[in-house]
Formats: sequence, C-alpha cells, structure tokens
Amino acid sequence: MTATVMAPMTMTPMTATAAGEGGGRPLAGKVALVTGGSRGIGAAIARRLAAGGAAVALTYQSRQDLADQVVKEIEQAGGQAWAVRADVADAEQVWASVAGAVERFGRLDILVNNAGTGVLGPFEGISLEDVDRVLRTNVRGPFLAAQAAAAHLTEGGRIISIGSCMAERVAFPGGTLYATSKSALTGLTKTLAKELGPRGITANLIHPGPIDTDMNPADGESAEFQAGLTALGAYGRDLDVAETVAHLAGEGGRYITGASIAVDGGFAV
Ligand code: NDP
Repeated sequence: MTATVMAPMTMTPMTATAAGEGGGRPLAGKVALVTGGSRGIGAAIARRLAAGGAAVALTYQSRQDLADQVVKEIEQAGGQAWAVRADVADAEQVWASVAGAVERFGRLDILVNNAGTGVLGPFEGISLEDVDRVLRTNVRGPFLAAQAAAAHLTEGGRIISIGSCMAERVAFPGGTLYATSKSALTGLTKTLAKELGPRGITANLIHPGPIDTDMNPADGESAEFQAGLTALGAYGRDLDVAETVAHLAGEGGRYITGASIAVDGGFAV
C-alpha cells in the first residue's frame, strides 16, 4: 500500500459568517496573520477574526481565487483583509508574508499557524520526499513564522498553532509522519510560551478532530469511521475551530498560554 496525500480538491462551503457569532469587535485595532487562509479551517479563522474587528492578512499556496474570495467577503462585511501567496514550506516566502502583513497593516498582534498538509499510510511506505515536505510545511514553517512574528509582537500578542488530535491520541495506524509533525508543535508552543511570556505574549496549540474540509470531507470514504471515533459521533465544522482561535486571540485568552486545547468532539477520549 502506498502513502496517500490527504488533500482531495473539492470545494467546502463557507460556514463562518462575516458577522461572527456573539457580536462586538473585541479585536478592533489588532492585526492577524493566518497561514493557509484561502479555504477550510484557515478561511473560517480569517473570517472570524475579521468579524471580531481584526485586520487580517491571509496566505495561500495556489488557490488565489479562493483567497481573493475570502478577502472580498471580509471587505464586504466592512473589515480589512489582504491575501498573499506564500508557501509555508519556503522560508523566504514565510518571512515575506510576515513582513508584508506588517507593511500592509502597520503592526502584527496575532499569528495563526494553520497551513498544513498530511500523508497517511503505512510507516514503511513513507518516502524521504514525503518526510521532508511534511516536516517543512507542518514544523519548519510554523517555527519560522513564529520567529519572524515574534520580532513584531508586543504585549498582548498571540501565537496560535493548529495541530491535530492525532498528535496526542492514536486511534488507528498509518499516521506516523502526520503525528510526528503535529506533535512537534507541542514543544514549539510550550517553549514559546516560556520565552515570550515575560513580554506578555501567549502561545497556544489547538488540536482539531475530524473537521469537514477539503482535506477531510465529511462525506469522504473514511468519514464514518472517523466520526465513530469521536464521543459526539460527528464531524466538526471549521467554525468550531475558529471560535476557539477567536477566544484565545481575545481578552478571554489573556491567561492561557502553553496550552494544548482539543476541539475534537471527544476523539478517542
Ligand atoms: P485544507 O486542505 O482544507 O486547506 C488547507 C489550507 O492551507 C488552504 O488554504 C491551502 O492553500 C493552505 N496550504 C496548504 N499547504 C500550504 C502551504 N505549503 N503553504 C501555504 N498554504 C498552504 O485543510 P484544513 O482546513 O482541513 O486544515 C487546516 C489545518 O488544520 C492543517 O494544519 C491541518 O493539518 C489541520 N487539521 C485538520 C483536520 C481536519 O480534519 N480537517 C484535523 C486536524 C488538524 P491553497 O488553497 O492555496 O491550496
């Protein structure tokens, strides 16, 4: 059996409303950078932070059309957004996206390391190329983005990374590379919390369970199996993750740092 890339290309409906849930603009005056904001969880996060009042820079790898659509939706709702192509596996592009967000909006308060990729399959079938690509995307990219962002963050700054429930719980075989990459974010998050805490900056990690996106569609071939591994017996929505990001980004996250927070419907509890 060969390794398979978890990236089927089907459209997912937008579920985060530009108006947000709960009203108010607690993030007014803040600037956020969301990696991989053209679709799925990242797009929901971008829309949700913008609904909270933040100006949002979002990156994409190839789907400029979808990134532009997210920007347009945010602007039509009265917010500010900007999209830039930046492969998170490419160091120069990561640095340029952070610099570009600061140049565009004048500051940076919130970094969301969301862009990610996955390869599932038996350990023996994972190629060297797979290992390098997944680690560059899921580990090196967030590391470099955090490093570049930290130079701009001030008191109240936030670094929020998107991991995976598979980083901490193993419900089925075949996830060695993906779990390896996502569990590395725990070390990054905890040490960032220690190093940046004295500057009033928090660092946290969210572990989503099965969320209905292009990467893991709720009508995919393993969807019923994955839903069955959760206590709630169902997939989550991109907005479920975005709401937790918004909480961490706002005043509610003031005293939360170094934490790993599951948004997973009770995956393999
Ligand atoms: P999708 O595949 O639906 O969307 C991925 C997004 O990331 C797109 O905006 C894509 O851009 C962008 N992207 C992918 N690779 C890169 C790259 N190398 N550089 C920059 N941007 C990139 O994924 P999800 O929304 O499902 O996943 C988002 C995060 O959540 C990932 O880190 C994933 O591992 C994690 N996660 C997802 C789960 C799920 O069940 N969906 C469960 C647990 C964790 P473009 O549109 O241009 O291709």
